[in-house]
Amino acid sequence: MPADGVKTLDFPHRLIERQIMAVPKRKTSRARRDARRSTHAGSAPSVVECPYCHSPKIPHRVCPNCGMYKGRQVLEVEE
Ligand SMILES: [Zn+2]
Repeated sequence: MPADGVKTLDFPHRLIERQIMAVPKRKTSRARRDARRSTHAGSAPSVVECPYCHSPKIPHRVCPNCGMYKGRQVLEVEE
């Protein structure tokens, strides 16, 4: 049994085993390549001010400084 990716090709007078890999049929155009990469850029995380301790925090996350979220003490904060 041939290994993964190896195919036995049946030619008229001989059997040959060849490594077969996927090969693109056409060159990727600059437009298509650049369109693909248009979603690759990252962005800095947004930061809001905690309404309880006024330290910067990530929106919709528990404040790492005071442990508050939506008016509740969610985390015990070590001094
Ligand atoms: Zn806070």
